[in-house]
Amino acid sequence: MQFVDLATQQQRIRPQLEAAMQRVMDHGKYILGPEVFELEKQLAAFAGSRQCISCSSGTDALLMGLMAWDVGPGDAVFTTPFSFFATAEVIVLTGATPVFVDIDPVSYNIDPDSLAEAIEQVRQDGKLTPRGIIPVDLFGLAADYDRIQPLAAAHDLFVLQDAAQSFGAEYNGKKAPAHAPIGATSFFPAKPLGCYGDGGACFTDDEALADQLRSVRVHGQGVDKYTNVRIGINGRLDTLQAAVLLEKLTLYPEEVEQRNQVAAWYTEAIAELNREAGTERILAPTVPDGSRSVWAQYTVQAEDRESIRSRLQEAGIPSAVYYTQPMHLLEAMAHLEYQPGAFPVAERASERVFSLPMHPYLDQETIAGIVRVMGDG
Ligand SMILES: *Cc1c(COP(=O)(O)O)cnc(C)c1O
Repeated sequence: MQFVDLATQQQRIRPQLEAAMQRVMDHGKYILGPEVFELEKQLAAFAGSRQCISCSSGTDALLMGLMAWDVGPGDAVFTTPFSFFATAEVIVLTGATPVFVDIDPVSYNIDPDSLAEAIEQVRQDGKLTPRGIIPVDLFGLAADYDRIQPLAAAHDLFVLQDAAQSFGAEYNGKKAPAHAPIGATSFFPAKPLGCYGDGGACFTDDEALADQLRSVRVHGQGVDKYTNVRIGINGRLDTLQAAVLLEKLTLYPEEVEQRNQVAAWYTEAIAELNREAGTERILAPTVPDGSRSVWAQYTVQAEDRESIRSRLQEAGIPSAVYYTQPMHLLEAMAHLEYQPGAFPVAERASERVFSLPMHPYLDQETIAGIVRVMGDG
């Protein structure tokens, strides 16, 4: 069994993918070719955002957002410690300081109450300038933007949505990454919408920010690439990857439906297992009203995680732990001098969570089998 099955998906559109790649080889515009601009148009329409600026990875999309806002030394950027390293890494790359904020125990996303306290704390300390917030839509579920945006507005902070795991996730009638002034997503192959290499994109409704992002994407270019007006990066998306994404995007709405069906099967089977056990042996994820996840991961919690995972492994069922260490305890963040215990909710989650196979091509019987193995101990 596979954790993510990209082969079945490829089988469905293999001739279209080959034709799309061949068209790129025929026209030869490998950098910023026509597929890149067509993709940006289609992605913007899909997300309901005015502008899409494709780029070389989710990490670069986040970095470009920070660079477009001129984030640098002395700035504080608030984010969650329970995410992939890139979320906080880009803050450090700009010279700014990540300020971690504990998570909500149910959604795993940044906790708005703790966020309000952290902003107040940084203001009182007076050493750093509060500049912005990077909420992460962890495992495909949008963060609580209705509570985050008013805090940002009250303190004049930007919001950069890390939608690397949540492209197309719905929250109050809008699709990720259109919940913040700039949203960033990733097309890494294993993400809900992935290409065949690295890729990413920024989304915004703000024309001026879109211009800044396009400039940063190509070495801070001005009217052309040899008239540099700021420091940027080489952050372009390859035309070949855009061609792949255009074909995969045709399947995506249906795949999001299928992911939700798979998640519903898991949740049902786990509820049954807990009923039979007479206790909540496995904690299933929940989706709040007004939200729709794209299920980048189906992540559960259990006290006896390691024994459940070895049973799964023996049965040939892969599982994974996202994330074994919250970021404030990683060696690369030692300069921030956080101690164990600083963020108890994130720390407890890292000791209990594990993610089960999740992709659109799982059937109900397979899901029932996976849950049976989890309960067999
Ligand atoms: C994958 C991921 C990124 C980075 O995306 P890449 O395309 O791999 O650079 C950033 N943030 C989160 C939450 C991610 O899951």
